Amino acid sequence: MAWFNRQKPGLEGSGDGEKRVRTEGLWLKCDSCGQIIWKKSLDENLQVCPQCEHHFRLDARARMAMLFDESAYEEYDADMVSTDPLRFEDSKRYTERLAAMQEATSLSDALISASGQLAGREVNICAMELKFIGGSMGSVVGEKITRAIERSMDRQTPLVIVSASGGARMQEGAVSLMQLAKISAALMRLDEAGVPYISVLTDPTTGGVTASFAMLGDLNIAEPKALIGFAGPRVIEQTIRQKLPEGFQRSEFLLEHGFLDAVVKRSEMKGYIADALKFFCD
Ligand SMILES: [Zn+2]
Repeated sequence: MAWFNRQKPGLEGSGDGEKRVRTEGLWLKCDSCGQIIWKKSLDENLQVCPQCEHHFRLDARARMAMLFDESAYEEYDADMVSTDPLRFEDSKRYTERLAAMQEATSLSDALISASGQLAGREVNICAMELKFIGGSMGSVVGEKITRAIERSMDRQTPLVIVSASGGARMQEGAVSLMQLAKISAALMRLDEAGVPYISVLTDPTTGGVTASFAMLGDLNIAEPKALIGFAGPRVIEQTIRQKLPEGFQRSEFLLEHGFLDAVVKRSEMKGYIADALKFFCD
């Protein structure tokens, strides 16, 4: 998202801070069509460009507010935090990185797990937060999703997971990779219990998340033009020594090649999920 705040129109040099007209952050430029958009009109339009329908990224809280009836939901495991099992340190300590992220996002880790009503039906929804270490999946994300799956099973209420992730969290190494197996096994039990699971893939959904739960839904649906893939295009090109076709890791291409069931606009997403759950449950 290119924040349009390079220019600071105002009463420069007035010497009086109070007189300065503050417009920073009020406008932004659409990455897709270049249109200058008033931020408020974007907020009112679910972060979709009114001109070209480019879908800007939506954070986990806004996603929950959009999907649950009257934006009301009960959150679970909100205080669960990573124990830093490897005592990992790169450019800084993992514990420091976590603390900084918790401060910046007001979340304990990269996922919100909640239950509430969607179009009058009780559901469990998990939404990933890309701003929290790239929406990476470590032990907390894995455990929260597994608990949400188990809650779905106990209560016989459908599950929706909204993915936005760079993949596994390298700071937790193998512990992070184990989450793929743990979640996939739990989803199999959910399937055997006959409880529906809808996976919503948003921009970007990559790495281990794509390789596990994001592609294991009874329905796998994506937002328009979302980047979805396992490895990045450069790695694939170097491996297979072939040029990749245009847009090959975007929702529309994946739909065309049978990896997705539907590409659904954000404005229609809640209604689409409601209809699908009606089909599955009634
Ligand atoms: Zn646009």
